[in-house]
Amino acid sequence: MDLLGDILKQYWGYDRFLPLQREAMQCALDRHDSLVVLPTGGGKSLCFQAPALAMDGMAVVVSPLLSLMKDQVDALRTNGISAAKIDSTMNARERTAVHQAIQERSLKLLYVSPERMVQPAFIEYLKKAGVSFLVVDEAHCISHWGHDFRPEYRLLKQLREAFPGISMHAFTATATGHVRADIVQELGLRDASVLIGSFDRPNLRYRVQKRTDLFRQVREIIDAHPGESGIIYCIRRDDVDGLCAKLTQAGYKALPYHAGMDEADRKKNQEAFTNETTDIVVATVAFGMGIDKSNVRYVIHGAMPKSVEHYQQETGRAGRDRLEADCILLYSYADFQLWRSIIEKNESEGGDVALNKLEDMARYCDQLSCRHKSLVEYFGEPFPERSCGACDVCLGDIDSRADAQQIGRSILAAVLDLDHMAGPSYTTLVLTGSREERILSKKHNHLPSYGLLDAHDARSVRDWVEQLVRQGYLEKLGEYNVLGLTSKGLSLNRGEETPLLTDRESPRARVSEPRRKAASKKGQSVDLSTFDPALFQVLRQVRREKAAELGVPPFVIFGDVALRDMSCRKPLDRAALLDVQGVGQKKCDAFGDEFLEAIQLHCEGAGSP
Ligand code: ADP
Ligand code: ZN
Repeated sequence: MDLLGDILKQYWGYDRFLPLQREAMQCALDRHDSLVVLPTGGGKSLCFQAPALAMDGMAVVVSPLLSLMKDQVDALRTNGISAAKIDSTMNARERTAVHQAIQERSLKLLYVSPERMVQPAFIEYLKKAGVSFLVVDEAHCISHWGHDFRPEYRLLKQLREAFPGISMHAFTATATGHVRADIVQELGLRDASVLIGSFDRPNLRYRVQKRTDLFRQVREIIDAHPGESGIIYCIRRDDVDGLCAKLTQAGYKALPYHAGMDEADRKKNQEAFTNETTDIVVATVAFGMGIDKSNVRYVIHGAMPKSVEHYQQETGRAGRDRLEADCILLYSYADFQLWRSIIEKNESEGGDVALNKLEDMARYCDQLSCRHKSLVEYFGEPFPERSCGACDVCLGDIDSRADAQQIGRSILAAVLDLDHMAGPSYTTLVLTGSREERILSKKHNHLPSYGLLDAHDARSVRDWVEQLVRQGYLEKLGEYNVLGLTSKGLSLNRGEETPLLTDRESPRARVSEPRRKAASKKGQSVDLSTFDPALFQVLRQVRREKAAELGVPPFVIFGDVALRDMSCRKPLDRAALLDVQGVGQKKCDAFGDEFLEAIQLHCEGAGSP
């Protein structure tokens, strides 16, 4: 008998484990300390929730955010699992109810804040409460190297000694070696099994485009996702307010979110997004921590973020349900300059390290190799040599110019002519045959390469120079960034290589092409040939109403995975409904009839069974 598999099916309605889930669950069953590192959407919560059900007693979960705790507890309860939280927002009556449940040993999961968890009296109380195992969620908060350091997390170290006979399990989506080592060390984990999943997010489709007309480009993307949830990131508050106002005026359901707004407004807008009364949030990086919304279908960066880490974090909020989602980055060279001036002005930005990270980000934008590969390798994980099928480069959306080799060699000729004396701008002037005084006075109008690219405008040529730098054909040397050839440049010069050179106007977003199948490689691939999008919209409406009635976010009722699967299978009775991914027994009993009725009505209306 497969107890964990049965629990997965009965309570969550899933047929298969995601990668490393079973191994992670086994650690809890074996009472063996563990650190589990899985990407966002990797299914971390189930790794401790399922074994909590399989074991006697109550698992205690330390979680840093009240809003996340509430969502998790709501989600567990709708799945028919006895769970509770203890936090400062509860009144005496609620608290008594929780304590009573603990006394009666009826709880399977208890969520607590780190502050509460380290109170001596609370620890003593828990020692007598039949704890099955301890979980530290978002465990990177313990590390200075992580992005959300929380001093209270440091105090969790005492738990290892306070509960010597109980295993501890840490979970995080932050992969760096520093953070991992810190977690094991700071929590005092004993001989911990460290499970690290792949950080590739195959269901995210990454695209990078030059920003030419932000509003037009953004609209095109949104229009390819009618009625779906999306986030648009901007650098500055003014950009947020400006773009949001324009979108609203054009009839889109968009709300702003940035640190300049007061707490209450921010909370209200975040809730509107979670509850799906608004489709779009236009935000600065301040938005994100604490949104537990799994069906964000696109993330647009209206400008380049300041590091690949930020980019990954922010795009990571798309497609947590592992259904496909679009991540589109619209950038311009001006973003780079803006960030550089911000970093240079602001010591606390970390100076050289921050500048290096910024350059890495710029390189990511300019380079023309697989985005999935670049991202995964940036974080130190190997990526197989194959087309990812989900980025602009692999999908062939980027059209390199047919004359790229010729242009490349012309540029190299000028660099050689100028022999380590000029940077990109000056080289561009020579190539485009500028009559500027400085060119003429140095007689550079007599160089063989002078005017070689005078059929093109200077901005394009300047761009191509940067593209050659990014692709490693040229390098910038010394204090003045003078250009020199690399060994790769020499082979280009011999005609042995061809660079990829693109025009400023990138091809239009092709976001509306036929959807890829849900990209999870193992299982879960929904057969979209029978997918009925109109039914999907009907079911979303039923979900929204049910959620409002119960005062929970819609995803607590059913995720998009379940609604999508229902819109393919069109179940007409409870037995068929139970086959749907993400429909467990409890939800089938609680909401099944309403959804079945909606499906039946829709199918009758559509004239097909
Ligand atoms: P994380 O915390 O790692 O970001 P979650 O625990 O929120 O991920 O899970 C992400 C989504 O995947 C949720 O919608 C969850 O219900 C779903 N999920 C988890 N495990 C499975 C599974 N075995 N099969 C299908 N979906 C799963
Ligand atoms: Zn790719």
